Amino acid sequence: MILRLRPDVDPHDQQALLDDLHRWGFTVTTLLRGGQPILAVNGQEITAGIAAELARYPGVEAIVTPSEPYRLAALASRPRGTTVRVGDVVVGGHEPVIIAGPCTVENREQLLRTAEAVRDAGASLLRGGAFKPRTSPYSFQGLGERGLELLAEAREQTGLPIVTEVLDTEQVDLVAQYADMLQIGSRNMMNFALLRKVAATGKPVLLKRGFAATIEEWLLAAEYLLAGGNDQVVLCERGVRSFEPATRFMLDLNAVPLVRQLSHLPVIVDPSHGTGRRELVPPLSLAAIAAGAHGLLVEVHVEPDAALVDGRQSIDPATLASIVRRVRVLSELAEELVTA
Ligand code: PEP
Ligand code: MN
Repeated sequence: MILRLRPDVDPHDQQALLDDLHRWGFTVTTLLRGGQPILAVNGQEITAGIAAELARYPGVEAIVTPSEPYRLAALASRPRGTTVRVGDVVVGGHEPVIIAGPCTVENREQLLRTAEAVRDAGASLLRGGAFKPRTSPYSFQGLGERGLELLAEAREQTGLPIVTEVLDTEQVDLVAQYADMLQIGSRNMMNFALLRKVAATGKPVLLKRGFAATIEEWLLAAEYLLAGGNDQVVLCERGVRSFEPATRFMLDLNAVPLVRQLSHLPVIVDPSHGTGRRELVPPLSLAAIAAGAHGLLVEVHVEPDAALVDGRQSIDPATLASIVRRVRVLSELAEELVTA
């Protein structure tokens, strides 16, 4: 059962409600950073009598039991939507948020040049992998902690908060010391131990869709983060496997409006991995915004052809600037269309 509290609930009323729920033996997960406070109440059967009594508490707006298996992530739990704050940047509001940067941190010069260029092009968050999930064990695996230090230096220099991937439960504390937002990659979407550990950091999370995961599995992965007490979750559609070898993955733009109808969590799109081809990144970026995405994650490199990883799908800063300009024009119209 989910108790939806009024956005302006008096903190004393909220505490009194929590105390009573605990006294009656329920376990309660409270989510409040992303907007309207919601309480997930579990532990024993909730009779009609208990529900009726709870509805009378001051501050309780509604009692809902979403029929979806991802109860906390379901739209019914927080119909006004969730916003996720990364530094001063808000994801899930009216402005589309552009996350940009290289696939991987290669060296100081490459990262700092790219970071300044993406900031000047209009990006609000800097991405870059320090720990890379590579299909082959012989491929470059990332600079590790040195990469995190360089990301922190790039943040210092540009003012952009940083988003970087965490691959393993053992790295969570280290990566969380540096990152403003933790990325869970496609290959780890169902690493439940990692989801639990990342939730516990309280940091904002970028949850990529597994490339062979259904939308329900993706939302259930998000549910692990929410059930861990962390509602600062942004979903990222990044393409799924298909029969078509002409592109690296098949960007599933169906998922964008669908997820917005199923969940209150913000959803962004990664057209770089979703296509694998840089010439497809601008049109798919615009298509994603037109479909209602709250932002984009784009791989950008100052010298895309020289990139150590994912150069084929990386765009240069001038292309990013042109995408950002057009996204701004399109997004107002798209918001009207999606919510109409
Ligand atoms: C990445 O963002 O560089 C990455 C490895 O993405 P994904 O997990 O979507 O493959
Ligand atoms: Mn990449």
